[in-house]
Amino acid sequence: MRMSFVSRMVAASALALAAGAVAQSGAIAGVTEAMLRNVPAGEWLSYGRDYAEQRFSPLKQVNEYNVDQLGLAWFAEMDTARGQEATPLVHDGVLYVTTAWSMVKAYDAKTGKPLWAFDPKVPRSTLYRACCDAVNRGVALYGDKVFVAALDGRLIALDQKTGSVIWSKTVVANQTDYTITGAPRVVKGRVLIGSAGSEYKARGSISAYDPETGKEVWRFNTVPGNPAQGFGKEGVNKAAHEAAAKTWGNKWWELGGGGTVWDSITYDPETNLVLFGTGNAEPWNPAANGREGDSLYTSSIVAVNADTGQYVWHFQETPEDRWDFDSDQQITVADVMIGGQKRHVAMHAPKNGHVYVLDVKTGKFISGTPWVPVNWATGLDPETGRPSINPEARYEKTGKAFISLPGAVGAHSWQPQSYSPKTGYLYIPTNLAAYPYMAAKDWKAGSFGWSIGLDGYAVAMPADLKAQDDAKVATTGQLVAWDVVNKKPAWKVDLLGPSNGGVLSTAGNLVFQGTAGGEFVAYTADKGEKLWSFPAQSGIIAAPMTYAIDGEQYVAILVGWGGVWDVATGVLANKGGAGRNISRLMVFKLGASGQLPAPPPMNQMVLDPPPFNGTLAQATKGGQLYGRYCAMCHGDAAISGSLNPDLRHSGTIGSAEALKAIVIGGQLHEMGMVSFKAALKAPDAEAIRMYLIKRANEDKALASR
Ligand code: CA
Repeated sequence: MRMSFVSRMVAASALALAAGAVAQSGAIAGVTEAMLRNVPAGEWLSYGRDYAEQRFSPLKQVNEYNVDQLGLAWFAEMDTARGQEATPLVHDGVLYVTTAWSMVKAYDAKTGKPLWAFDPKVPRSTLYRACCDAVNRGVALYGDKVFVAALDGRLIALDQKTGSVIWSKTVVANQTDYTITGAPRVVKGRVLIGSAGSEYKARGSISAYDPETGKEVWRFNTVPGNPAQGFGKEGVNKAAHEAAAKTWGNKWWELGGGGTVWDSITYDPETNLVLFGTGNAEPWNPAANGREGDSLYTSSIVAVNADTGQYVWHFQETPEDRWDFDSDQQITVADVMIGGQKRHVAMHAPKNGHVYVLDVKTGKFISGTPWVPVNWATGLDPETGRPSINPEARYEKTGKAFISLPGAVGAHSWQPQSYSPKTGYLYIPTNLAAYPYMAAKDWKAGSFGWSIGLDGYAVAMPADLKAQDDAKVATTGQLVAWDVVNKKPAWKVDLLGPSNGGVLSTAGNLVFQGTAGGEFVAYTADKGEKLWSFPAQSGIIAAPMTYAIDGEQYVAILVGWGGVWDVATGVLANKGGAGRNISRLMVFKLGASGQLPAPPPMNQMVLDPPPFNGTLAQATKGGQLYGRYCAMCHGDAAISGSLNPDLRHSGTIGSAEALKAIVIGGQLHEMGMVSFKAALKAPDAEAIRMYLIKRANEDKALASR
């Protein structure tokens, strides 16, 4: 029978409708803007769960009365042994997580059955320009796609069902100085991402992309370019750049300027603003290239129109930053009663040690309160929030070392905070860790690598047991429940070391956090009473999340020690007790009793260096070069953490040729140790070898005491 044109049209429409209905109710229904605005109770759809980045779940099946019955439901071994920083997302029964090297894995969230995996095959040589390990903090979900940003600067869209690549594009200005570790966010149907790199020659930016094509929709550069070229190409942000250029000295643009947007991106539907934090100005030492001034918009929170990327307001938390006080930490939005009035506020606890509360719409300073000991500032202006800077903290002026509290790792780093609207507390993963700053003399920017203008050798940890013990005693961590309204801690838990995990709070009156020592812990949200813990075998730096399927609540955490604290802090690297990386995704539920395999025994390494037969001048020069080029990955004073090789133990220090083949010849390029021939010559490599031999012998002597 021949169908009429009309009946054929009707049939076609019915088929199309049916196909649409299948897509809506099939195994993977798309994540919509409406879902992101109002996240279903059992799901976790973006990095901080919702646009406000509260990391608060309304689920309460697991609660203060039964959390002691929480057990391991399933776990998955990760195939990398580096720092794990990602928060898993869960939508429609599927859990999506990233691991080190920007790899993505999808699991059945109920059973742990692997569904697909994606490896962007980041060149391992990228590691040399990643300040803080090959970490990645997670994916974004929108429609039928998964978005991941790779360490080497690509933004990649994957098919949510299969993990196959739909599009991929490089979103950083170049792949010599930029990396991406943060999770993309989707805001009003656009994918937002920034980058890291303010310790190299990077210019910070955040940009928005069409999820279907990867086409750039808008870009906000956080620092101005060369004024000689005019600011016209900044488009709607021309005036914002003209204003910012007045706050810099000399030729700041030659080193990029810094201000990278490496973590926080928050959307506020009420004001249609995207809020993000910016990193330090480059170089850290403002006198090193004469960039002195406030250096806008670095170390700030900036708000832009979500549709256009146009500047609306900024609040600079650390003007004239010289301490690496990035403001990139997560920004949380909530309605809070302050002085009897409901205020729509952004809450921020950046590296600089103050909890800031700002009006979301205007950026106006409401309050700023130190929540840890602070010595770089003597107070904040009560009206503007601008800090008064301790003259001794301007180390480039005094010519002396300044030991700052907090230090460069920050009172709070990337580890996500959580805000519970039930308790009104902001749960802050807190570091109590000082850092010594000393300006490098006659510093010149190189064409390559770490570039901060400091003398790392002069302030390196001495081979002195008392000094090391004193530093260990003074370096700890805390979980702080901060009462936002009353501007004081409601409770605190003291932790052995810094760099503990991010935080989850729930309606079950619970707060979950993993520790650097490898314990996954639940506390009561209102009082901080420890109710439950699980030995995870490796340090935890990532944040937990929770979801529900078929009426059962699950709590998930990615375990795996690493990140900046491990690679950079020398003798303090294992202060939290982790000591090794065993990377796993662990998922818990009530009544489960899964067991982990027994952990392998700990390695015991004994120092056995060749005798030191160089000159003191050679070792000093080697130490200075080590401080500038090597310490960021191999550790302060040549003592490494658990991830990167400890060069005091390396067989290569016994042979000038062997070390030269690596440092100059690039023999280990594929393992992340690229050739440093752009910065170092053969006699430099030999001087570094002499320094390493000297250090190894010093520590061997200490160990025998
Ligand atoms: Ca930084």
